[in-house]
Amino acid sequence: MNEIHPFFEPPAPKGQPAFAQPLHVGRPNIGDRRKLMARIEGLLDRRWLSNNGPLVQEFEQQMAGYLGVKHCIPICNGTVALELAICALGLEGEVILPSYTFVATAHALQWQGITPVFADIAPGTFNLDPAAVERMITPRTTGIIGVHVWGQPCAVEALQALADQHHLQLMFDAAHAFGCSHGGRMIGNFGRCEVFSFHATKFFNTFEGGAIATNDDALAEKLRLMKNFGFHGPDNIIYLGVNGKMTEVCAAMGLTGLESLDEFMDINRRNHESYARALAGIPGLRLIEYSRAEKCNRQYVVVEVAAEAYGLSRDETVARLHAENVLARKYFWPGCHRMEPYRTLYPDAGLALPQTERIAPRMVVLPTGTGVDGAAIETIGGLLRSWHQGAG
Ligand SMILES: *Cc1c(COP(=O)(O)O)cnc(C)c1O
Repeated sequence: MNEIHPFFEPPAPKGQPAFAQPLHVGRPNIGDRRKLMARIEGLLDRRWLSNNGPLVQEFEQQMAGYLGVKHCIPICNGTVALELAICALGLEGEVILPSYTFVATAHALQWQGITPVFADIAPGTFNLDPAAVERMITPRTTGIIGVHVWGQPCAVEALQALADQHHLQLMFDAAHAFGCSHGGRMIGNFGRCEVFSFHATKFFNTFEGGAIATNDDALAEKLRLMKNFGFHGPDNIIYLGVNGKMTEVCAAMGLTGLESLDEFMDINRRNHESYARALAGIPGLRLIEYSRAEKCNRQYVVVEVAAEAYGLSRDETVARLHAENVLARKYFWPGCHRMEPYRTLYPDAGLALPQTERIAPRMVVLPTGTGVDGAAIETIGGLLRSWHQGAG
């Protein structure tokens, strides 16, 4: 998801907004500043700023250990990581993905001349419906990209069975899912590979950054070469590569953030519980719950607005929140298939996406993270409750 600031001017308040300062979705989580600064001093002293420096190497080791995966290759951002993974897996023709995702998942395919084929999400989830995926398979299909939307694992096993049956590659856009588990195993271990984003707004950030996790040695080797122009030794190029390297300063941020990961997770858990209390019993508002059995970063506080029961539409609700300086977002509205270039290229895509079309206009994402506390959440809950009463 992109930085909030370029898109959002808080609207001029009519009266006094409930919050003097805007509350953002995806306000960056930052670890211990002194440790970050010490790492930055060190990299400046070494004059080793990029090209697989010691901080990137340490970051790579630590991530792989944390995820319990053989390889976790740092990349300059999540979108380039997706493109590298797509390229290294040899995807071409058509690749199936959800429309209910951030547009970068689709762009990464289209940018390489691959046709993104949008499949619907399953009712009651926000993730790909394996039955819908199966309906979209054609002789041109080479792969499936599952997205773990909100950090909730998609139907990993069913998608893997489908991929095996039809000889397709399966990879995951795990941009939301760093620190999340599925069946007790960390996300990062599924499919051929999984791609993380460490963008500033994500649960865990390296300013900009990303990574590709895989248990496949040969794929990891290929990705390592491809992210560095295809260099194999100083004068030898053996692949069409790109510049996908992570810098040392980003790894400094990553190493520092990893040390605070449990704290970020605790804050998000506490905030989510506060939201559950603050929104309890408001007709027409449903807070999306996360599995208690799994590790989960709870970076997204997602509410479904049933306009009939609540009395306000999702868009009216968001407008009112913005007027109070609560800069809620409408993720993922209207869905990739209704954005350019896809709406022009594939004008009928929506016909196969009834759940996506139903869900996308109902969802609101509320602010959480280290910049939000229990008192703020109570205030937000109080506003949402009063608008229902006011509307009713
Ligand atoms: C953020 C995001 C990306 C892109 O990651 P960047 O690091 O911003 O390039 C891709 N997919 C999803 C689902 C995302 O939320």
